[in-house]
Amino acid sequence: MKNIIDVDLREDQLALKEVQDVLQNPDKFIVTKQHVKGGTGLCSVCKQQFGTPHLLSCSLVFKNVMVRVTAQYPVETPCHWTKEFIEYHKLDSTPQGLLEAVRYELSTILPDKLAEYGQHLTFECLDDQSGALLKHH
Ligand SMILES: [Zn+2]
Repeated sequence: MKNIIDVDLREDQLALKEVQDVLQNPDKFIVTKQHVKGGTGLCSVCKQQFGTPHLLSCSLVFKNVMVRVTAQYPVETPCHWTKEFIEYHKLDSTPQGLLEAVRYELSTILPDKLAEYGQHLTFECLDDQSGALLKHH
């Protein structure tokens, strides 16, 4: 079989369940007509031939991971609200409502403030064991 490993992998990367899944089941990661651009017969990303496996580095071969992000940024609130009421107001929302509010608030941070508030951002990958998946356009 043609080598689909087109990147240098460390031992720990090679041992990943997802990498092993792709290497041991290349038939599950075949370039189909939905991955081909125009009449080229090649994957629009990794340029592999229709009917052959995508390269390991192809962005159409992916996994979903769960992450945790914490952010620190200013929010305008009525001046008479206490810290406890501000938290209650947010946490009393549905999880979806809270996420929408946070997403909106983050989107209002001015570009010149991104560096300042970005310094307080934390990012943690909680679970990276979803298994390898193939995108379908
Ligand atoms: Zn590809």
